Amino acid sequence: MISEQYKNMLSGKSVIRELFAYATKRGQEIGYENVFDYSLGNPSVPTPPEFTNTMIKMLTEMDPVALHGYSPTQGIGSVLEKIAASLNRKYNLGYTAKHIFPTTGAAGAVAHAVRAVSVPGDEIITFAPYFPEYGPYINLTGAVLKVVPANTEDFQINFEEFEKIINEKTAAVLINTPNNPSGVVYSTATIKQLASVLNRKAQEYNHDIYLISDEPYREIVFAGVDAPYVSKFYDNTIVCYSFSKSLSLPGERIGYVAVNPACKDGELIIAMCGQISRGIGHNCPPSIIQLAMAEVVDMTADLSVYEKNANILYKELSNLGFTCVKPGGTFYIFPKALEEDAAAFSKKALKYDLILVPSDSFGCPGYFRMAYCIETQKVERSLSALRKFVETEYR
Ligand code: PLP
Repeated sequence: MISEQYKNMLSGKSVIRELFAYATKRGQEIGYENVFDYSLGNPSVPTPPEFTNTMIKMLTEMDPVALHGYSPTQGIGSVLEKIAASLNRKYNLGYTAKHIFPTTGAAGAVAHAVRAVSVPGDEIITFAPYFPEYGPYINLTGAVLKVVPANTEDFQINFEEFEKIINEKTAAVLINTPNNPSGVVYSTATIKQLASVLNRKAQEYNHDIYLISDEPYREIVFAGVDAPYVSKFYDNTIVCYSFSKSLSLPGERIGYVAVNPACKDGELIIAMCGQISRGIGHNCPPSIIQLAMAEVVDMTADLSVYEKNANILYKELSNLGFTCVKPGGTFYIFPKALEEDAAAFSKKALKYDLILVPSDSFGCPGYFRMAYCIETQKVERSLSALRKFVETEYR
């Protein structure tokens, strides 16, 4: 018998992917350079040449049997050590190889973290607006995703609503900062308040509550923005990291789980990740990608274009009268749509070859997301389409 659960998911496909497919098709008709495709969070800058050169060197100089051999269940030891050392250089929390588990991107990391700290029937809380893939990452484990409504004032955490939703079934809280889709970075005050609520509630319910911190955009923070390292504020933090955006390697599927060295049962959780992998057929990222990433673990691609694009778009959107919180990082901006129905708004934008993602699937209706990981000249060319769209449809 085929699985009804997965079959039913076919009717709930990702809106983002569908808009991207539309943009690609439209590009074949009018030239992709004429489609202002703000749909997908696919980095637009190349990976550093050091990564490419390392790959070439390994392929040409290393023993192919060793290079292409199976990775150990827990990941390649030297790679784990390099990741731990890199984290210690930045945050000085005392990570060792025993606190790290390599995964296929942040997606793989979240899938492991959720399984490690929850059982079917447990609840995992996240905050709107949130990355829609959290639905499948969590609900297919048997745990239940609970969403705290957005604080649309500034897209920091809505603590009043959070306190109404957290309960004894809460096994973990999943946050994403810098945030997709809002572009907002949670402030130190927000993280401190979150840690204080979690400590109080863990005591009240007499069980641990883990904080899963999904951080694929950790390196994309704009000038002057307060961007605290979450693990410093809450012991039971499990970081889910990815090199997809920082090193522009989304197709290579490389990231990691890093438990805070002070995390309760942290080393056990990392050991369990190897067993979770067995259960879901994950079996570590490819050996060559683990090794090559470890050589450039402290580097990033040139991420400066994202801040440049953010400033151009924020200025134009503000001039056009959009309500919009200024992004503090990532490559997303999340303005309020000019009508209540964000899907209708996005549909109208297609007439102007503007591909804008309506916010319903982010758990925050009435907004739209622009992924501005595109060339700056294209952002600039899109402004006249944006003006024409607003003036024709909404003035
Ligand atoms: N979490 C968030 C918030 C994301 O935006 C993404 C990808 O866009 C992921 C997780 C998945 O990242 P990866 O491609 O590294 O698996």
